Amino acid sequence: MGRWYHGDINGKYWFAVQGTSCMESYGAKELGCEATFACCGCSVHNKNGDPYMFETDDSCFGLPDKIYCWNCYDSYEEHIAEIKEENGMESETENTYYIDQEIHYSMNQDDFEEYALPFIKKHRCLWERFVEKIEFSDCVEYDVTFKKELEKETISIIADLCMLKQIQHYFKESGEYQCDWVGEY
Ligand SMILES: [Zn+2]
Repeated sequence: MGRWYHGDINGKYWFAVQGTSCMESYGAKELGCEATFACCGCSVHNKNGDPYMFETDDSCFGLPDKIYCWNCYDSYEEHIAEIKEENGMESETENTYYIDQEIHYSMNQDDFEEYALPFIKKHRCLWERFVEKIEFSDCVEYDVTFKKELEKETISIIADLCMLKQIQHYFKESGEYQCDWVGEY
């Protein structure tokens, strides 16, 4: 159980402590969801920069009706016919896609410095009081060791600090300007 995030950084949200959107308080931006077409399994992005982009609002659920995968089918009717064939003809579905249970996030170095660094600095003492060390693997997963048990009111701060230090580590190691990940919700 638990919700994971993956991409430039990898790990697990702290259970009952961190929401999927937790990094938005520190300058991360939500980029929306992906959807997957039924039958063929191709991906649909509802954001810029992809052939499957749709001109809709920013809502995850703002995809228009009657879209179909034009990589694999010539029409909506053709796509839906194959779905019905696969599900049995009594199937009532009119949807050619389903929304993935993941949200894309992105944070750049400028926003990190503006919103995340002050938070890290502000809680430096707290961090040093509770945290023995934090280590990162090659895929930028972190492993944190505590000096003592966390107090209730500090858990969410420490949880967010761990993820922020993970992002900071990614910036430092990769030299990239932007850090991208998707989180389960
Ligand atoms: Zn397809």
